[in-house]
Amino acid sequence: MTTCKYHPTRLATSRCKRCGMPICNDCKMVSEIGVVCSQACLDAIKAFHERVKEVPHPRKRSFLSGRTVKGLLAVVILFAIAYAIVCFRAGEMLGPFDAVDQFISWGRSIVAYFF
Ligand SMILES: [Zn+2]
Ligand SMILES: [Zn+2]
Repeated sequence: MTTCKYHPTRLATSRCKRCGMPICNDCKMVSEIGVVCSQACLDAIKAFHERVKEVPHPRKRSFLSGRTVKGLLAVVILFAIAYAIVCFRAGEMLGPFDAVDQFISWGRSIVAYFF
Protein backbone atom coordinates (compact mmCIF):
# COMPACT_ATOMS: atom_id res chain seq x y z
CA MET A 1 0.00 0.00 0.00
CA THR A 2 1.25 3.44 -0.83
CA THR A 3 1.00 6.12 1.79
CA CYS A 4 0.87 9.88 1.45
CA LYS A 5 4.13 11.72 1.04
CA TYR A 6 3.15 14.13 3.84
CA HIS A 7 1.09 11.77 6.04
CA PRO A 8 2.85 8.42 6.45
CA THR A 9 -0.22 7.00 8.19
CA ARG A 10 -2.70 7.84 5.47
CA LEU A 11 -3.24 5.97 2.29
CA ALA A 12 -2.45 7.80 -0.87
CA THR A 13 -5.37 8.19 -3.22
CA SER A 14 -3.64 9.96 -6.05
CA ARG A 15 -0.28 10.81 -7.42
CA CYS A 16 1.08 14.22 -8.21
CA LYS A 17 0.97 14.76 -11.93
CA ARG A 18 4.33 16.48 -11.89
CA CYS A 19 6.56 14.72 -9.37
CA GLY A 20 4.64 11.47 -9.09
CA MET A 21 4.53 11.59 -5.29
CA PRO A 22 1.71 9.61 -3.71
CA ILE A 23 -0.67 11.94 -1.88
CA CYS A 24 -3.80 11.58 0.21
CA ASN A 25 -7.17 13.20 -0.27
CA ASP A 26 -6.35 16.07 2.08
CA CYS A 27 -3.09 16.93 0.35
CA LYS A 28 -4.10 16.73 -3.23
CA MET A 29 -4.67 19.90 -5.13
CA VAL A 30 -6.98 19.51 -8.07
CA SER A 31 -6.28 21.87 -10.91
CA GLU A 32 -7.66 22.03 -14.41
CA ILE A 33 -4.53 20.27 -15.54
CA GLY A 34 -4.55 17.45 -13.03
CA VAL A 35 -3.88 16.45 -9.45
CA VAL A 36 -0.71 17.84 -7.91
CA CYS A 37 0.87 17.63 -4.46
CA SER A 38 1.82 21.24 -3.83
CA GLN A 39 1.62 24.80 -5.06
CA ALA A 40 5.17 24.48 -6.35
CA CYS A 41 4.21 21.53 -8.49
CA LEU A 42 1.08 23.31 -9.66
CA ASP A 43 3.09 26.37 -10.68
CA ALA A 44 5.65 24.24 -12.43
CA ILE A 45 3.08 22.25 -14.34
CA LYS A 46 1.21 25.41 -15.30
CA ALA A 47 4.42 27.05 -16.51
CA PHE A 48 5.17 23.94 -18.51
CA HIS A 49 1.74 23.96 -20.10
CA GLU A 50 2.10 27.62 -20.97
CA ARG A 51 5.38 26.91 -22.69
CA VAL A 52 3.89 24.01 -24.61
CA LYS A 53 1.01 26.22 -25.73
CA GLU A 54 3.31 29.02 -26.82
CA VAL A 55 5.77 26.97 -28.77
CA PRO A 56 4.17 25.69 -31.93
CA HIS A 57 5.03 22.07 -32.41
CA PRO A 58 8.09 22.03 -34.59
CA ARG A 59 7.66 19.79 -37.58
CA LYS A 60 9.52 16.63 -37.04
CA ARG A 61 12.66 16.96 -39.04
CA SER A 62 14.97 14.14 -38.32
CA PHE A 63 18.35 14.04 -39.96
CA LEU A 64 17.75 10.50 -41.09
CA SER A 65 14.54 11.15 -42.90
CA GLY A 66 13.24 8.49 -45.22
CA ARG A 67 14.66 10.30 -48.21
CA THR A 68 18.16 10.53 -46.79
CA VAL A 69 18.15 6.87 -45.85
CA LYS A 70 16.97 5.84 -49.30
CA GLY A 71 19.60 8.01 -50.95
CA LEU A 72 22.37 6.61 -48.79
CA LEU A 73 21.13 3.10 -49.37
CA ALA A 74 21.11 3.63 -53.12
CA VAL A 75 24.68 4.95 -53.03
CA VAL A 76 25.84 2.02 -50.89
CA ILE A 77 24.12 -0.51 -53.12
CA LEU A 78 25.50 1.07 -56.30
CA PHE A 79 28.93 1.13 -54.77
CA ALA A 80 28.66 -2.51 -53.69
CA ILE A 81 27.54 -3.53 -57.18
CA ALA A 82 30.36 -1.57 -58.80
CA TYR A 83 32.83 -3.11 -56.37
CA ALA A 84 31.52 -6.60 -57.09
CA ILE A 85 31.78 -6.04 -60.85
CA VAL A 86 35.34 -4.75 -60.52
CA CYS A 87 36.36 -7.77 -58.45
CA PHE A 88 34.59 -10.12 -60.83
CA ARG A 89 36.27 -8.65 -63.89
CA ALA A 90 39.64 -8.65 -62.19
CA GLY A 91 39.10 -12.29 -61.22
CA GLU A 92 40.12 -11.68 -57.63
CA MET A 93 39.11 -9.84 -54.51
CA LEU A 94 40.67 -6.44 -54.81
CA GLY A 95 41.28 -4.15 -51.92
CA PRO A 96 38.99 -1.14 -51.86
CA PHE A 97 41.71 1.17 -53.12
CA ASP A 98 42.71 -1.15 -55.94
CA ALA A 99 39.05 -1.43 -56.88
CA VAL A 100 38.70 2.34 -56.98
CA ASP A 101 41.87 2.57 -59.10
CA GLN A 102 40.53 -0.05 -61.44
CA PHE A 103 37.21 1.74 -61.62
CA ILE A 104 38.84 5.06 -62.41
CA SER A 105 41.00 3.52 -65.14
CA TRP A 106 37.88 1.99 -66.68
CA GLY A 107 36.18 5.33 -66.49
CA ARG A 108 39.12 6.90 -68.29
CA SER A 109 39.14 4.26 -71.01
CA ILE A 110 35.37 4.62 -71.51
CA VAL A 111 35.73 8.39 -71.77
CA ALA A 112 38.66 7.93 -74.13
CA TYR A 113 36.58 5.53 -76.24
CA PHE A 114 33.73 7.98 -76.70
CA PHE A 115 35.71 11.16 -77.21
ZN1 LIG B 1 4.39 17.19 -6.84
ZN1 LIG C 1 -1.50 13.74 2.92
